[in-house]
Amino acid sequence: MTQLPETPWSVSSQEILKTLEVDRQTGLSQTQVETFRQKYGMNRLQQAQQRGAGEILLDQFKSPIIGLLAGAAVLSFVLQDWVEGVAIIVAILVNTIIGFFTEFQATRSMEALQKLSHTTTKVRRDRQLQEIPSEELVPGDIIILDSGDMIAADLRILEANSLNVNESSLTGESVPVSKHAKPLEGDPPLADRLNMLYKGTAITQGSGEAVVVATGMKTQLGRISELTTQGTESEQTPLEKRLDDLGKRLIQLTLLIVIFVAISGIIGGRDLILMVQTAIALAVGAVPEGLPIVATVALARGMWRMAKRQALINRLSAVETLGATGIICTDKTGTLTENQMTANSIITALGEVEIEGEGLEVKGRFRLSDGQSINPLDHEWVKAALEVGVLCNNAALQPQGSNESRVVGDPMEVALLVAAAKAELYRDELLQNLPEVKEDAFDPDLKMMATWHQVGDDYRVAVKGAPESVLNQATQILTPDGVESMDESIRNVWQQRSEHLASQGLRILGLAQKTISTHQASPYDNLTFIGLVSLLDPPRQEVCGAIENCQKAGIRVIMVTGDQAMTARNIGKAVGLTTDDTVDVVQGQDLKNIKTLSGAERQRLLDASIFARVSPEQKLNLIALHQSNNTVVAMTGDGVNDAPALKKADIGVAMGQRGTQVAQEAADMVLQDDAFASIVEAVEQGRAIFDNIRKFTIYLLSGNVGEILAVGIMAFLNAPLPLLPLQILYINFVNDAFPALALGVGEAAPTIMERPPRNPQESVLTRRHWAEIIGYGGVIAAVILGAFIWAWQGLGMNETEAVTVSFMTLGFTRLWHVFNMRDSNSGFFRNEITQNLYVWGALILCSGLLLLAVYLPGLSDVLNTASPSLPAWLLILGMSFIPLVFGQIFKLFSPD
Ligand code: ADP
Ligand code: MG
Repeated sequence: MTQLPETPWSVSSQEILKTLEVDRQTGLSQTQVETFRQKYGMNRLQQAQQRGAGEILLDQFKSPIIGLLAGAAVLSFVLQDWVEGVAIIVAILVNTIIGFFTEFQATRSMEALQKLSHTTTKVRRDRQLQEIPSEELVPGDIIILDSGDMIAADLRILEANSLNVNESSLTGESVPVSKHAKPLEGDPPLADRLNMLYKGTAITQGSGEAVVVATGMKTQLGRISELTTQGTESEQTPLEKRLDDLGKRLIQLTLLIVIFVAISGIIGGRDLILMVQTAIALAVGAVPEGLPIVATVALARGMWRMAKRQALINRLSAVETLGATGIICTDKTGTLTENQMTANSIITALGEVEIEGEGLEVKGRFRLSDGQSINPLDHEWVKAALEVGVLCNNAALQPQGSNESRVVGDPMEVALLVAAAKAELYRDELLQNLPEVKEDAFDPDLKMMATWHQVGDDYRVAVKGAPESVLNQATQILTPDGVESMDESIRNVWQQRSEHLASQGLRILGLAQKTISTHQASPYDNLTFIGLVSLLDPPRQEVCGAIENCQKAGIRVIMVTGDQAMTARNIGKAVGLTTDDTVDVVQGQDLKNIKTLSGAERQRLLDASIFARVSPEQKLNLIALHQSNNTVVAMTGDGVNDAPALKKADIGVAMGQRGTQVAQEAADMVLQDDAFASIVEAVEQGRAIFDNIRKFTIYLLSGNVGEILAVGIMAFLNAPLPLLPLQILYINFVNDAFPALALGVGEAAPTIMERPPRNPQESVLTRRHWAEIIGYGGVIAAVILGAFIWAWQGLGMNETEAVTVSFMTLGFTRLWHVFNMRDSNSGFFRNEITQNLYVWGALILCSGLLLLAVYLPGLSDVLNTASPSLPAWLLILGMSFIPLVFGQIFKLFSPD
């Protein structure tokens, strides 16, 4: 191949395959793939602009605090106060460096996380159906398309079975377009190229095959993205916005205080320059400049933790919403159950066989109900059932029979293939005599799917689906006396049989077939019912525990399944969702629009925890219902039709293994292991992150309030100040950041899943937290002033020595104060703070920094400190523990 085809839509599919030098049945060979990779590169769009180091560095200077400080530095130089000027510049630098590194790290780790969520594509290479990372596609690859797939390259369609595609990402048109494989005349615009598929669009329905004609930047999407400069807009989450607002309000408040202090000092006749400097230092001291940085770090860290527990976050803002989750609506199959299905029996009017063996292992005999083992191919009815299961199927076992773990496709369909393989019936071989001409993909509303197979001039239609759907469409039934007509009473008998099996927790499928002369007619009428297949799908081990945890945490779990009521109730009991045999299982059709519900209906729906035979649209009503009750709703989904529900839910959860790519795009969170327990762990992490942010906000603000009060009161009384401007800077910039960071990355309190979910409207700091901040601030101020006055008046120290005592007291007070941030319900010695190694690291580091402030010659000169005497040290240490003791006593009397 020398050139990529320019107008692949204008030629026939044979020609395009010839140009690309590929055979549709075999696909590319490994050597071809390598040559093409050399030539066309990986299937990647140019890296979206990363937030570069330079940009992050620049951002550090954008904060108003830095402006304030720079002003102070200039002022100091004007006043020829060189030491002070330089010191402030050093403070700016230190702040910038800490800010830069933490933010750089956080940004990079979030970008790395994004890369984890890569997509895959099903291709045929070397005659084998394989699932490969979409990045590895090359022109000429033969692609197998299925409903729910995201298109990863530009493709020319080779075969289309009711293939509908949503191309809104390219054309803006949101109505799905129906596609075909025929060549087109002339040079139609992109939206009219009905035999092409473009990167970035999604298959909403149907299936087919196509060949890659362009990859990477050569695709339409690549060309567009080349035109528009791609800047990743760094979205601000609601939480970050709230913290920003908080910061801004604090700045305003501080300015007021500062002006007040400055004016009162000036009126009192004190040194103007000192008052201006004090005012600036106060302003700087009061504003928690570390807040946004620490918040970013806490969020990034939380996302990593979630990723480690198999939950990838698509939207950063989901992290904080997660913690407020009140209801989790979960799928049954694969989330509560293993999704490791085994077909264990076939039931027809001619008899019943049990199939031995479990999982993917292709070994096991077929036994009649009297225990006699049979060759299934000797019995027409068993053979018919197995054949329909294999024909009406999109999965693949490969390579045939050998490696048991290499399977592709829906586990239920895999189970049908495995069952047939036990009878040495293989899909490939079967298709040679019965080539598939068309497929009607599984429709979650009809709950059926069908395939057409050529037999001479006629078509054999194979149908499988939910038993009641198949029964309702069947007009005939296979019996010992041949095909007989079906009536309502026979239907009822089968319906009961199916429910009886379902009540044992088995998943039941109905099988049917017919032969017709055209493939244009509907596949679902006049069917001949063959029988039922029961499939075993055991509940996941860890689900019971996770559901119990939810109950303790005040989170309701609701099962929303497409499966039938009996199966749902049985699994619900098995996982501990209910203990009641007669629990109300609501049918999906009762989930009406909430506006049309009567009071009683509404209440019944609100109370129910199991919903069966729910269609994707009905999920929307369920979400709306609970949202109208002011609850944060998490909803799981996997199909294309689930996308609207995933978007509507506060937390849309898609399945990483089982879910379609469309669902994964629409979701806020993708579970890599599809497991329910991972949702619960993610909620726990969400709570922990919010808690941590709250903790370090309270921590930073209460210390700052203490400083302002202490200095403000003395300035107001026209008394000597207990803290010098540079000392406040030192504490806030150097000594404060580390404990706050440690709090930000800490683990959850052990009791975090024992409280009810947070009210979603609640802000970061409630009244109660403000009261706490002011209370702690008052005590810290009292301790600073107490130490200062005691040293000065009581111990007769000079002013420098006394100020050193109050400065050091403040420094150590703020260090110990970190222990006041523990959860009220946790132990005094054993709690999330004392077990946080980062906290201990921060304390050691910061104690060292405080010692340097008094003992390191140059620094102590700048900070104007004297080395403390023994009595001074005793005073400092004694006083600095008071707020800790106060805090612990306070916690004793007011648990949360
Ligand atoms: P769940 O909530 O258990 O995941 P689904 O919505 O996936 O249920 O499926 C609902 C019903 O549709 C199933 O009980 C089954 O009877 C039928 N069904 C599911 N997948 C297929 C398929 N690929 N082909 C035919 N029928 C299917
Ligand atoms: Mg499902």
